[in-house]
Amino acid sequence: MSNLSLPSANFDPAVVDAIRRAVNPQRLAETALALIGEYSPTRSAGRAADRLAEILAADGFAVERPVADWPEAPAVVTRLESGNPGRTLQFDGHLDTVHLPFVPPRLEDGYLYGSGASDMKGGIAAFVEAMRALRETGALKSGSVLITAHDHHEGPWGDRRQVEALIRDGYVGDGVLLPEYLADPLPVAARGMAIFEIRIRREGEPVHEVLRPEGLPDVLAAGVLLACRLQELHAALGQKTHPITGQDSVFVGQFQCGEIFNQAAVLCTIKGTRRWVTPNAAQEVQAEFAGLLAQVAAETGTSIDFDFEVQGEAYAVDAADPLLAAFQSAHAAVTGAPLPLGRKPFVDDGNTFAALAGITPLTHGPAATGAHTLNEEVSLADLVRVAEVYALTAVGYCGGE
Ligand SMILES: [Zn+2]
Repeated sequence: MSNLSLPSANFDPAVVDAIRRAVNPQRLAETALALIGEYSPTRSAGRAADRLAEILAADGFAVERPVADWPEAPAVVTRLESGNPGRTLQFDGHLDTVHLPFVPPRLEDGYLYGSGASDMKGGIAAFVEAMRALRETGALKSGSVLITAHDHHEGPWGDRRQVEALIRDGYVGDGVLLPEYLADPLPVAARGMAIFEIRIRREGEPVHEVLRPEGLPDVLAAGVLLACRLQELHAALGQKTHPITGQDSVFVGQFQCGEIFNQAAVLCTIKGTRRWVTPNAAQEVQAEFAGLLAQVAAETGTSIDFDFEVQGEAYAVDAADPLLAAFQSAHAAVTGAPLPLGRKPFVDDGNTFAALAGITPLTHGPAATGAHTLNEEVSLADLVRVAEVYALTAVGYCGGE
């Protein structure tokens, strides 16, 4: 997408200058290294959460530890209040990392390495530094900043229960920034996505092909028919389009049936994904899917059940959203230009905030590499940039009309 510029207030150069001088690269790096140093695979992020809480408390911030449905690792919450009415901007991050062997933290030639450096302890350290800079400069004249950090993000180990519980318990701002490893473009729309597993069954036992009773339902034939119907659905879904996110889709990646070549099976399984562009359409999409399966079951004399695990809802950010304008102004103030707008290629907690809290999410973080590998790497200079952009976005958004 090419919408490069948005009309928005320019920042007072003195405020930009003050924020840039207040963001401290060494302090940011120390925070990142401390968080990376606490091994925190998903569902076991307690030590990283404790460490973040200690760091914030040592800085003089009042820290809350809501359990948020995960006693193993209570969440970390803190706020910076201006004392004047205005919007609340939330900075949200996940402290858990994928289940890979621990890589210890290291800072070398201006780059941070180690478990979670890219995804997303570097980003969390950046937004903590943004909040410190806002406090030290007094640049936040109205509204407030809310920091939330939690476990249970990375799948398949986590099920997002903690961010969902935080939202349910009211730990939400008017808009939210999420420092995932995506620096360009600025994602203003995302498709919803569900992983499905379909199980087609017949009654009775597996049987030799020549001993099959007359009219025995054929689960393999039913599976083939269903796979064809899903392809037809995919073709029809091409009409459901969005200018940024593309189109709806259904994809089959696995088809399994039978034990040996001459035995009539009792079970056929089909696995794949369903993606959609329309915000808040998960229930409708699932109902359509269920209807198609029921029809194939009726036609083939089989019984069909399925799982439909929604990984994230679709959303689209309104072009007139004040968070978008504040972010682009902040980005321009720091880097000289606003970001091109685009789509978000992955599902993150932004999808959950859009669907459950009804607030605008913007995912923006460092141009980090190696997420979900043993080679995570992020430049300290880029984390400084993220901290400056986050702080200035808060100044513009919380005090805006
Ligand atoms: Zn992440």
